[in-house]
Amino acid sequence: MNRQQRRAAAKGAGVDARVVQYAKSYKCPDCDSDTGEVTRDRFGVHHATILHDPTCPRLNGITP
Ligand SMILES: [Zn+2]
Repeated sequence: MNRQQRRAAAKGAGVDARVVQYAKSYKCPDCDSDTGEVTRDRFGVHHATILHDPTCPRLNGITP
């Protein structure tokens, strides 16, 4: 493993608890959404899955 690979592995090692707290506080204004999994990729960028209701207008593209 070279230096670049070690740095990438370290960045992707864990999810920041503050990011998880922020993501879980998100509520869709159009439905009773929940926050799913929060992950961190190899570049250190966090991703959160927002679980909308199936009838949510935001999910269906009606609301921008
Ligand atoms: Zn929604």
